[in-house]
Amino acid sequence: MKRLHIGFDDTDSKDGMCTTYVGAVVIDRLIEMGAKIIDYPRLIRLNPNWILKTRGNCAIAIEVEVEDDLIVKIKNMVLDTVEKLAELDYETTNPGVVFLESKNIPEELRAFSRKVIQDIVTIDEAEELAKKIGAEFFKFKIGRGIIGALAAIGERLEEDFTYELIAYRVPSNRGKERRIDRESVFKMNELTYPITFDNIDPYTNEIRITPHTPCPILYGIRAENPFIAEKAHRMVKAFEPIERWVIYKTNQATDEHIKSAKISDVQPYRSFSIKGEVCEKPRIIAGGHVIFKIKDDSGSIDCAAYEPTRKFREIVMKLAIGDIVRVNGGVKPKPNLPLTINLEKMEVIRLSRILKKLNPICPLCKKRMKSAGKEKGFVCKNCKKKLPKDAITIEEIPRSIKLGVYEVPPRARRHLAKPLSRIL
Ligand SMILES: [Zn+2]
Repeated sequence: MKRLHIGFDDTDSKDGMCTTYVGAVVIDRLIEMGAKIIDYPRLIRLNPNWILKTRGNCAIAIEVEVEDDLIVKIKNMVLDTVEKLAELDYETTNPGVVFLESKNIPEELRAFSRKVIQDIVTIDEAEELAKKIGAEFFKFKIGRGIIGALAAIGERLEEDFTYELIAYRVPSNRGKERRIDRESVFKMNELTYPITFDNIDPYTNEIRITPHTPCPILYGIRAENPFIAEKAHRMVKAFEPIERWVIYKTNQATDEHIKSAKISDVQPYRSFSIKGEVCEKPRIIAGGHVIFKIKDDSGSIDCAAYEPTRKFREIVMKLAIGDIVRVNGGVKPKPNLPLTINLEKMEVIRLSRILKKLNPICPLCKKRMKSAGKEKGFVCKNCKKKLPKDAITIEEIPRSIKLGVYEVPPRARRHLAKPLSRIL
């Protein structure tokens, strides 16, 4: 018996296909061929801020135990399946397949995976590592997919992870409107949330399990464990046939893309978690985006809650100078604009006290007094009592925001971002 790790990536285009579907077909074929799949196949989301990412930005890894004489047949089957299903006519689709025959995953490969998820890696780096650890790789066209393929093999999901059950449409329905019973999704959510999550956007009542792209996915159910995912899948009524379904173990909803950092460490195309003090008040800019600035001992940086984050912006608007926050988000450079953290989540750690000078309260009537004129102190409209100008009071204005963690709504959330339902 031999242990074989199979990884592949970059088979989809914006107009169709999905690497998870290629994975589902490969898995079914592996089972038909008598391979034993170890644990669950893995769906690994990669750095969501990198410009060369694929649409869904996910890679697939499958670990199997097989008879020695099957190894070559299996490798050929995987290569054939990727070649037939990948959208090779698209310039930006550059599949890569990696095989690693080994029981153990080298430490270097694990570190490489972390880098691909949080940082940027070149095809050359991937190739060099593959050669060094004795992994076989196959490049279609320029083969950028070998980066994700290797990363998926090396990400063992030994810390935080979730599951996703994905159901696929028959080819004749792909590209058409998805037909599923809304009510059944609400019911499923009622019975299984928060062990399943992101089924529904609570602000818009929009169903979140169905994508809006022409890909083969009918729906995907995210869950803390595979059993509830399958149970939830049985509760969803589809008005169209399901070709096949698969359960992946995944780094979705784990915040694995986020690195803790100081402001001076921030680089474009990556995601960070930064603790800082609000040093410029939130303001609304053209397009309905909200921008504010934070500082730490290394510098200052803009943070943005963009328009699609909707109600989250209203919370951000309540921040004041001096508040201590921890912000999570990605950085994508925009021409002529300073680097900006695109907020995914925000923890309000400490609220500053907002003090305001106010006219004194009349000691007799308990009503707020009026100014008696410039430099003339205060007078009560009611009883005419007068107080000198130094009777002015300084009062604390109550804050309308509470300490705690806030997140963007599901519709604006990244696949990798950990939802509050998984934290609280
Ligand atoms: Zn009075």
